[in-house]
Amino acid sequence: MDRNVKYLIIGAGISGLTFANYADGDYLIIEKEKEVGGYCRTIKKKDYVWDYAGHFFHFSTDEFKKKFLDSVNPEDIKYKDKNTKIIYKGELVDYPFQTNIHQLEKEEFIDCLYDLFHKEEKGRL
Ligand SMILES: Cc1cc2nc3c(=O)[nH]c(=O)nc-3n(C[C@H](O)[C@H](O)[C@H](O)COP(=O)(O)OP(=O)(O)OC[C@H]3O[C@@H](n4cnc5c(N)ncnc54)[C@H](O)[C@@H]3O)c2cc1C
Repeated sequence: MDRNVKYLIIGAGISGLTFANYADGDYLIIEKEKEVGGYCRTIKKKDYVWDYAGHFFHFSTDEFKKKFLDSVNPEDIKYKDKNTKIIYKGELVDYPFQTNIHQLEKEEFIDCLYDLFHKEEKGRL
């Protein structure tokens, strides 16, 4: 293929697709997989759906949330209460793990806090 474009986008994950959506010129997206989405893909196996990674939206501002909601047909949006847990050492901890470490055994909780406190220090070693 012989083609000139202003933007060559490597990867059709959410970043590549978003960039393409706002690009002020022509573009070509190259994707190594057979489908777009990157880590935002979902596969279905038997009766279950599995998210590769992303499964809920982080809206950093109300403005962005509104922008998203305005661009989607309200009938296509399904609201679900989320009840996700992680089995850790035989106990259930609410997801996401990192914001629920207070549910761990006291000693383990303190270890996590200690590691978090010294995180930057360790990163520099
Ligand atoms: C376990 C987990 C859970 C997460 N949960 C959430 C969540 O709940 N909510 C949320 O907002 N975010 C979540 N994230 C983060 C979110 O999934 C990522 O930030 C986002 O998907 C990254 O998108 P991206 O387009 O930058 O990269 P990717 O999704 O990795 O896309 C990159 C694309 O480039 C393609 N590619 C790579 N190399 C090449 C190449 N050489 N040539 C051609 N194509 C190439 C890949 O196939 C892929 O399609 C989670 C991440 C993980 C790992």
